[in-house]
Amino acid sequence: MTFRQAQDERSAQPLTLFNSLTRQLEPFQPVHEGEARVYSCGPTVYNYPHIGNMRAYVFADVLGRTLSHKGYKLTHVINITDVGHLTDDADAGEDKMEKMARQQHQSIWDIAQHYTQAYWADIRALNIREPAKWSIATKYVPQMIDFAKSIADKHCYELDSGLYFDVSTVADYGRLARAVTEEGEGRIEAVEGKRNAADFAIWRKTPPGEKRQMEWDSPWGKGAPGWHLECSVMSGDLLGFPFDIHTGGIDHREIHHPNEIAQNQAFCCTNGLDVPANSGARVWMHNNFLVERSGKMSKSSGEFLRLQLLIDKGYHPLAYRMMCLQAHYRSELEFSWEGLGAALTRLKRMIMAAERLAGVTPGEARHPKLASMLDAFEKAIGEDLNTPVALTALEDVLAAKKVDPSAKRAAVEAMDAVLGLDLFGTTRADLRLKPKGTEITEAEIGDVLARRKQARADKDFAASDALRDELAAKGVEVMDGDPLGWEWKLG
Ligand code: AMP
Ligand code: ZN
Repeated sequence: MTFRQAQDERSAQPLTLFNSLTRQLEPFQPVHEGEARVYSCGPTVYNYPHIGNMRAYVFADVLGRTLSHKGYKLTHVINITDVGHLTDDADAGEDKMEKMARQQHQSIWDIAQHYTQAYWADIRALNIREPAKWSIATKYVPQMIDFAKSIADKHCYELDSGLYFDVSTVADYGRLARAVTEEGEGRIEAVEGKRNAADFAIWRKTPPGEKRQMEWDSPWGKGAPGWHLECSVMSGDLLGFPFDIHTGGIDHREIHHPNEIAQNQAFCCTNGLDVPANSGARVWMHNNFLVERSGKMSKSSGEFLRLQLLIDKGYHPLAYRMMCLQAHYRSELEFSWEGLGAALTRLKRMIMAAERLAGVTPGEARHPKLASMLDAFEKAIGEDLNTPVALTALEDVLAAKKVDPSAKRAAVEAMDAVLGLDLFGTTRADLRLKPKGTEITEAEIGDVLARRKQARADKDFAASDALRDELAAKGVEVMDGDPLGWEWKLG
């Protein structure tokens, strides 16, 4: 079978995705044949992302990889919010970027630059593929003003504080959230003069006598765009309405995405685009939260769980990716250090099995012995990205006996292209990270271990035990007979 045929076979297999709009599983049907256009809400770069935020991008990455695997030409856009996201979902709050810049005595541009780089470092560490485009919000302000101008007459009204979107001007406002009238409105702080509690600012005017670090001229005076407007404009501009899939964390299902949809509806109607439901995207997908035992994950309370903290404690970042894959994206996932340790061990076993295929040239994956595993994988990933089941299919392939290594290698490569664990690019040694603050070097450990080996060969067990204790005193645990073949680890 040629690669093309294999690809046709894969894309012939159905892909169903859970659409938050309908709260149903739906077969994926691209707007443009053979293509998939995906927009993911990106981070607000006022601080480091926490690992919960990164779960949203691992999910979006698996979605993108699955679409590529199924044969679609993928165009993925992730934005960087460097202006406009307020400290709460209320329009009365302060811009997160302005606030952080003031606290850190730096310019907003420096803050944005620093935290965007930090976010990209996490993206790379988690083996998340680069999207076709990172769209930076501040580079789209003229387009935002044009968009707002085009809907202002019919759908907006002006107050002293800004230009507001009147949610009663679009049909079915908030159907994505399903409970907007009660819950959603209750969460939005009142701004004097708003017609409906759920109305939101699409342009925020700079208050008289104040100067913001980031402000632009507009028909409504100097000011800055609202956060919801940014995503509507960048997604529509770069992917064209309607595009296929819009993703984000489950919190966005309540306010941010209903507001984007309202703007998209207004924009599409005004511009004579008659698209199904005019929601901008056909499918809206949301990942559930990563939570801590104590509750919601936050950047301010307790230990700030950012990826670098995991690395400093000696956990390879791909162990966190593994942890994410072990749960379905629509389930809540509770973070624990024990869980992360278990994910690291699982990854290590897989990498050891993959090491046995090093140097093997991939051949034909569809080997009779692997057929059921390949089918199980396709079915799992095609059923709303069931990564926990897909992972076990991959493990079954790695463990399969008496299978031509070239078939095995091809099957593992194909599956790992979807799951992104980088099994052939990572070695067992790469996974062994030294916790921050460890003084001893690998060479020193190797040296002591060599002496210990000699002592054991000489049956000098007292010396061997003394060397083991010497390492233990430096935080190195010697692991004789470790089935994972690590020999030692740093505690
Ligand atoms: P933000 O930078 O706050 O806009 O968040 C970036 C992304 O992370 C958004 O898609 C959020 O919905 C998502 N997100 C926030 N907190 C969590 C969490 N604890 N678990 C998973 N996703 C989250
Ligand atoms: Zn967004």
